[in-house]
Amino acid sequence: MRQKWPHLHLTVRQPTDASTPQRMTDSTDERPARIDLAAAFRWAARWDMHEAIANHFSLAVSQDGAQFLLNPAGSHFSRIRASDLLRVDAAQPADAQAPDAPDPTAWNLHAELHQRLPQARCILHTHMPYATTLCCLQDFEWLALDQNACRFHGRIAYDRDYAGMALDASEGQRVAGLLGQGKSVLFMGNHGVIVVGPTVAQALDELYYLEKAAKLQVLALSTGRPLALIPEPLAALACAQWNDYPTAFSELHFAALKLILDQKEPEYKT
Ligand SMILES: [Zn+2]
Repeated sequence: MRQKWPHLHLTVRQPTDASTPQRMTDSTDERPARIDLAAAFRWAARWDMHEAIANHFSLAVSQDGAQFLLNPAGSHFSRIRASDLLRVDAAQPADAQAPDAPDPTAWNLHAELHQRLPQARCILHTHMPYATTLCCLQDFEWLALDQNACRFHGRIAYDRDYAGMALDASEGQRVAGLLGQGKSVLFMGNHGVIVVGPTVAQALDELYYLEKAAKLQVLALSTGRPLALIPEPLAALACAQWNDYPTAFSELHFAALKLILDQKEPEYKT
């Protein structure tokens, strides 16, 4: 069995793979995880955050993060079902001949990130238009321009060294180093964004608000008028208020989104 990406030490497993029961013990029932991640794909497509059949979302299903769910190559976000998601293992050799091998750039980024940042359970990577526009501005720094933007105060890392496509593991290692310093959002220069979170609900909520705030910043910059920036202490206060909000905001948002899918696209759960 020839290995296509031996340096990644990854292998593809189908959801029903019964050959490695010992590796399944700490993942219990992964069906809810599959449903949540499928819902995230559907909504990313609805929000026009997707790009062709590229971009990838992943969700750890083992405690150490080495095993995770990932979208299969060639699948459009808008059609992904829970059962379509690949279960992959960053600690196992890859099977190059697998007809459903995932996209190599997904391996290189997500496998390295899940292994190196096990607290980042859900990892979302998109080229969503407004945030990516900001990634293409020279020396751009996130603007405390509105309440939504304040949510990300102090949590954005910047990669200003675009290095082409992630076709080997070194790129994933480099990106993991940028995110591993208390940051949960990475602006990838000339490329796109990565958002990480402890759950699909929280990561998707972050992705949504990041793009909303980025859109407002692009629009504001396009006016050419002076910007009314929020002073740093106020931005920090608003960020703390986001963090300490008295309801489970992200979870309520995600539950509402899934209710819409339950009615309009119930097959996402299958
Ligand atoms: Zn990308």
